[in-house]
Amino acid sequence: MNKVVLVTGGSRGIGRAISLAFAKSEYDIVINYKERDTSALELKREIEDKYSSRVLLVKADVSSEEQVKNMVDKIIASYGKIDCLVNNAGIAIDKEFEDRTVIDFTKTLSTNLIGPFLVSKYVGSKMVENRGGKIINISSTNGINCFFPTSIDYDASKAGVINLTHNLAIQFAPYVNVNCVAPGWVNTEMNQDLSEDFLAEEKDKIYLKRFAEPEDIAKVVLFLASDDACFINGEVIKVDGGY
Ligand code: NDP
Repeated sequence: MNKVVLVTGGSRGIGRAISLAFAKSEYDIVINYKERDTSALELKREIEDKYSSRVLLVKADVSSEEQVKNMVDKIIASYGKIDCLVNNAGIAIDKEFEDRTVIDFTKTLSTNLIGPFLVSKYVGSKMVENRGGKIINISSTNGINCFFPTSIDYDASKAGVINLTHNLAIQFAPYVNVNCVAPGWVNTEMNQDLSEDFLAEEKDKIYLKRFAEPEDIAKVVLFLASDDACFINGEVIKVDGGY
């Protein structure tokens, strides 16, 4: 029986690379996403063509408790278990500090911080019932050492995800390993609206002189889900090429 992974925001960008990496490792995949049906459907087709994994698509907003609860019920009804959860779904609203509103701030926190809390709450209880599981949260170096007042809400949400990781590792002990990956800059659509000049300046600050590819992050997530990482718990791993 294959292991089952739920990847939130698993249809595009880093989440897409994570879904593909787990499929290659013979997991059955649950791809969660919020809006873009086409990206999710294309990825499902790609995985089913290339690998033997079963793929379940679940369209649900991770910031809605009702939708999260329904998503977890649907996964349990289809697969009976969830071995690994990757809390990857996230948004970044690019706006000057002066223009940022309470509505923006709340939306960012709801998706990036309350989302992982809700999904972990409902999935974690199933993992504890099964006496095993892995949760991997995707934070960012914006929550550690890479700060921008233009993304003040995003940076706070990602620092919150690190804190959540430590608390969830205690809450679900001794059955679930809860760890966190904090990527630096990654080549995805999330950064597509930033200016060329700014991106070039940031690239120059990275020791390896390039942004990560989504696959660079997926490899670390897959490692944390593997038995080789069985004694890593409550930990944060930066994957930023040196910055
Ligand atoms: P993308 O914008 O490329 O993809 C985001 C994914 O999240 C999509 O699948 C999207 O679904 C989904 N999503 C967004 N909001 C929700 C929601 N409320 N509920 C469910 N799914 C949702 O993002 P990235 O791949 O760049 O980022 C992935 C994660 O990595 C995020 O947490 C981000 O903060 C983090 N990160 C990214 C970095 C980067 O440089 N790109 C650097 C450090 C961390 P849909 O297609 O339906 O919109």
